[in-house]
Amino acid sequence: MSGVPETAADPRPSPPPERPDPLPMVVGPTRPHPSVLRRMARAADPIDAPSSVRDLRRALVLTRRLLGAPAALPFALPGTGTAGMESLAASLLAPGAPVLVASTGMWGDRWRDICLRLGVPAHAHTCAPGRAPDPGEVGRRLAAEPHQALLLTHVDSSSGVRTPVAELAGVARAHGALVLVDGISAAGAEDVRQEVWGVDAYLTSTPKALGIPAGLYLAALGPRAADALRARTWAPRHYSLDLRGWAPVMRAALEGRFAYHQSLPGNLIGALAEGLELVVEEGRERVRRHRRLALRLRSALDAEGLANLVADDRDRANGVSVYRTPPGLTTGELLRGAAGHGVLLQAGTHPRAAEETFRVGHLGNVDEHDIDRTADALRRLLAPRE
Ligand SMILES: *Cc1c(COP(=O)(O)O)cnc(C)c1O
Repeated sequence: MSGVPETAADPRPSPPPERPDPLPMVVGPTRPHPSVLRRMARAADPIDAPSSVRDLRRALVLTRRLLGAPAALPFALPGTGTAGMESLAASLLAPGAPVLVASTGMWGDRWRDICLRLGVPAHAHTCAPGRAPDPGEVGRRLAAEPHQALLLTHVDSSSGVRTPVAELAGVARAHGALVLVDGISAAGAEDVRQEVWGVDAYLTSTPKALGIPAGLYLAALGPRAADALRARTWAPRHYSLDLRGWAPVMRAALEGRFAYHQSLPGNLIGALAEGLELVVEEGRERVRRHRRLALRLRSALDAEGLANLVADDRDRANGVSVYRTPPGLTTGELLRGAAGHGVLLQAGTHPRAAEETFRVGHLGNVDEHDIDRTADALRRLLAPRE
């Protein structure tokens, strides 16, 4: 066993991260815990040192727990979230065989672009801005034509939509399609049960809900995906992103051994292990906290008459809210006004609703104080002038 407790105990009381001024209420990067930053600043040990293997192993064991995937093959790798998407697609999707992408905004569209570049025909079930995919409709598409995989975005940070992953994974499996999920704005703020839901590959990255500096992505392959990777008869054009090359490194680390494929950034892996420990210790309370803060923000902004892009509360994510810019203001004016009141918000990024929306990130190390400051800034900004 590693030194990691197997059941989540009471959350360790930890000092809050510093509150910068202005306060960034953004999707990412979110504010890291000071202990994570301290770990990151330490020079890395040699890649084959027992301490390096121990850190990687700890990060991998914690990744399985974070994602509810105790039997999965976990990966912790250097790169952006997009590199993670490309890595999963290049490693698991056979060129020439179609996939279906259920797109709830910018990130579903990116799944599709990545597939097309790789020579994987990507069909889209494109949702109207603020709407979640309809499992009945997705099931009909999969029944009408075989697809090798269904690609989902658990939480799309351009729309604020949470996709019903459990239900859609069931539909995809019934049609023999692999299920790949981009959980980059979800894991750490939403309930994730990869094994129970039957998700074959779940991806996340460090700088969003996990509150760990950017630089790494995490993936977990369930048994079907791990078998597909092993049995693959073709080789992707991407050498460095191919998970097949990395799999022996991760398997070795889980057994406490070193194996070489490419050099991992030891200080980032150490910070990852430190940060994941905080996330996993907070356990289920972490998801409840994000839900509570989301509701607190929304009831304050509803009272200001602001309209959430996501009509149905059931489809609203815990860690990001997308609102329509109110009449009489441009989004740029709203963002500058909020900054003037000490809070940094973000412009809309939805490919079909960017101009008329703005975004509030409330994920990672956020608390009631941050939410109230955000609501207050918007209240002052929108108050009718004398
Ligand atoms: C941020 C984000 C990404 C991309 O991450 P990068 O590190 O910017 O490449 C992908 N998917 C989702 C859902 C995201 O929120």
